[in-house]
Amino acid sequence: MNDTKIALVTGANKGIGYAIAQGLGAIGHRVAVGARDDARREEAVERLRAVGVDAFGVALDVTSDDSVAAAAATIERRAGRLDVLVNNAGIGGRTDDGAQDPTTLDLDVVRTVLDTNVFGVVRVTNAMLSLLRRAGAPRIVNMSSNMGSLTLRTGPVMAAYAPSKSMLNSITVQYARALADTNIIVNAACPGYVATDFTGFAAPRTPEQGAAIAIRLATLPDDGPRGGFFDDEGVIPW
Ligand code: NDP
Repeated sequence: MNDTKIALVTGANKGIGYAIAQGLGAIGHRVAVGARDDARREEAVERLRAVGVDAFGVALDVTSDDSVAAAAATIERRAGRLDVLVNNAGIGGRTDDGAQDPTTLDLDVVRTVLDTNVFGVVRVTNAMLSLLRRAGAPRIVNMSSNMGSLTLRTGPVMAAYAPSKSMLNSITVQYARALADTNIIVNAACPGYVATDFTGFAAPRTPEQGAAIAIRLATLPDDGPRGGFFDDEGVIPW
């Protein structure tokens, strides 16, 4: 088997996903840049190549079964297997008009957020599983948030986004249990509060700092933790 590891990062055209792609590229991974918009994807691929990353673009809208299936076919054709899957793509959802105040909650916003942040992860993961099974030490990292922690109760009240990350954490545990007898290691990560479009660039951490925990979990040794939730400081309480 070729030693070069193949990594797919969803939502890799900007923000933390781009930094994860760059960071994995810097340690020698060949990176599939998953992004839904053609122009934004190709621009990111060019920027990554300009800094020496072996990157290629993969059209990927995590809310579309057809797009996800086509992305798996592209990776099969281009690489034949997948060593690392980082489910990074995520949305906060609309917050105007009390859309995420639980007392006036807009259920369409909840559906939209779940479709990306939770069902999108399941769609992509399941489409990529046969490619991951061909790798020697496959790793899956789900980009969660400490806003999904039922213990910490951190961040603003966001009754679509926060529960979506709680559910993502729960799904991560389910995957870890289902894959316990395999070499596929699955964990959830929180990047901290990072300056990206998502936060209006009004946050203290850089995308590179936010990417670090995902890169660490993507490169865990075979005896690394399974089904956990981590940030730079260590374990985050559920
Ligand atoms: P950005 O908004 O900067 O980037 C989000 C990325 O996800 C973009 O590439 C976006 O693509 C992509 N995306 C959104 N929807 C889809 C979709 N349907 N299909 C494919 N790609 C999609 O956010 P961040 O980089 O800040 O966030 C990345 C992850 O980190 C998210 O899961 C977020 O919840 C999590 N996180 C972020 C924190 C922060 O402080 N920034 C804190 C905690 C967690 P496009 O450009 O096309 O919109």
